[in-house]
Amino acid sequence: MADKEDDKPGMPDPEEISRRLSDFLKTSFGDNVSFKTVTDGENPFSQFTEPSGEDHDLKTDPSEGIHEFNLLPREIKAHLDRFVIKQDEAKKALSIAVCDHYNHAKYLRRLHESDPEKADEIEFAKQNVIVVGPTGVGKTYLVKHIADLIGVPFVKADATKFSETGYVGADVDDLVRELVRKADGDVGLAEYGIIYIDEIDKIASQGNSFGRDVSGRGVQTTLLKLMEETEVNVRNPQDIQSQMQAMFEMNKGSGPGKDTINTRHILFIVSGAFSGLEKIVEKRLRQGAIGFGAEKVEAPEEAVLQDELGTQDFIEFGFEAEFIGRLPVRVVCEHLEANDLFNIMKNSEGSLIRQYEREFEAFGIQANFEDSALHPIAEAAAEEKTGARGLLTVCERLLRNFKFELPGTAVTQIKIDGDLVTSPDETLARYMSEASFIGDSRVIGEISAFRRKFEEEHGVGVVFETEAVARLSELGEQRNQSVLQLCEELFRDYQFGLKLIQQNTGRNTFSIDASAIDSPEKYLSNLVVASYSKDEPDSDSPEDSGGEEQQALL
Ligand code: ADP
Repeated sequence: MADKEDDKPGMPDPEEISRRLSDFLKTSFGDNVSFKTVTDGENPFSQFTEPSGEDHDLKTDPSEGIHEFNLLPREIKAHLDRFVIKQDEAKKALSIAVCDHYNHAKYLRRLHESDPEKADEIEFAKQNVIVVGPTGVGKTYLVKHIADLIGVPFVKADATKFSETGYVGADVDDLVRELVRKADGDVGLAEYGIIYIDEIDKIASQGNSFGRDVSGRGVQTTLLKLMEETEVNVRNPQDIQSQMQAMFEMNKGSGPGKDTINTRHILFIVSGAFSGLEKIVEKRLRQGAIGFGAEKVEAPEEAVLQDELGTQDFIEFGFEAEFIGRLPVRVVCEHLEANDLFNIMKNSEGSLIRQYEREFEAFGIQANFEDSALHPIAEAAAEEKTGARGLLTVCERLLRNFKFELPGTAVTQIKIDGDLVTSPDETLARYMSEASFIGDSRVIGEISAFRRKFEEEHGVGVVFETEAVARLSELGEQRNQSVLQLCEELFRDYQFGLKLIQQNTGRNTFSIDASAIDSPEKYLSNLVVASYSKDEPDSDSPEDSGGEEQQALL
């Protein structure tokens, strides 16, 4: 219960009010009438939204961040290049649009301080963007990274949710309210957020063979209002509980805060596959070329489409002229070929491969992907025709059994190479047989516990080669000591030497071989000495020590 002193006497809390109202409606009108309450835990919108990644620094005072915006288009593109492979034209167009948008917001803000009237009169065509491109080629990924970089909230939704359900289901205003939620309730920051609507091609109206239904036009009109400038209630008028919450806050004297969101500075980015659009452009080009070798005009490739795409093509596709007019920046994203998918795995900072490495690592298994595996994975993924999403499908299929069988065994390192891709079952069987050779589960469990503790305490990892495990197990029996005790004793001071090598070489994981069990100090000092020379031996690098016989490490 809230503090009694603050409450008005007899004022129930919002849940109680909403429960009583619900009972009242039920008794008065039966089951035909009900109302829906929305709570944080049950957000009807959450299915459409994506986490915007890192926390933003700008939540406390939006003016601090947005109004100090000073990025250059090339800087935004450079940031995107770290994550998104290809899509150069899209990156450029988006970078410019974003700079123009936030520079204008900054300009208006300054003008408002000196001459509020003039600031209100300034006309500005917002740089809303329409992105054309197939699925899985990085459209959402681009927008998400832009939002992360600038530090504004970002909401993604599918246009289809609106066209089908109309008033009953998702309300376009919810998009704006969702921005506020993403901005941790900071309306000021939400007013500079980015709303990204996918599958916009599905709300093209009928009359054209590509459009879907008449309700599409209605949704276009509603979205149009948002894209221009409108005030949206912070609280959904249909949501009685949140209305109650507002009343409750007023009663407590804390005030309701800002109760509307202005959409003037919200940047809208819409996207879709627009299949058939290139045919429309081709037809137009052909008509324009009558008499000048019209028969030579073909459907434009993506790169050409980028230059040729005109407003009339979108209108022909089924969009209202006013709607498409609010989306002046047009961008075409390219298909991804096998070679691009290879690059995504190899070079993108957000690569799926890093994700797989982390997932295996959580089970104590170091996964090393080699190019000989990445090439066939990329080829197979390209066949899926789902862009980079195909990579996930292929890797999942390829590695599922490895992820299921290997955790909890003695295997702590796997090499994902061409052989594994060609014969996954045989490779898995080999790992399993090596794992059972290494030792009983008690020994394995104790060594895993030692490794985990060591890494947690000292920030460096150790893995044990097969022979080392066998030797530890043997020694433990001889001395009548547990393997864990033995490790703690033998490698008591290893962190000092290993950290030194880490500083010298940047390595974070070290493999321990059988000779280290017999002479731990000598083994470590050899490693330390070697780390000062450029040609240090491979033996302390699990990444490099991949002889066939050493694949199973613990
Ligand atoms: P869509 O184009 O359908 O919006 P996404 O941007 O959601 O596709 O892409 C799905 C995932 O695939 C992304 O989260 C990202 O991991 C990966 N991805 C897609 N395209 C690229 C790309 N060009 N470069 C790097 N990763 C990409």
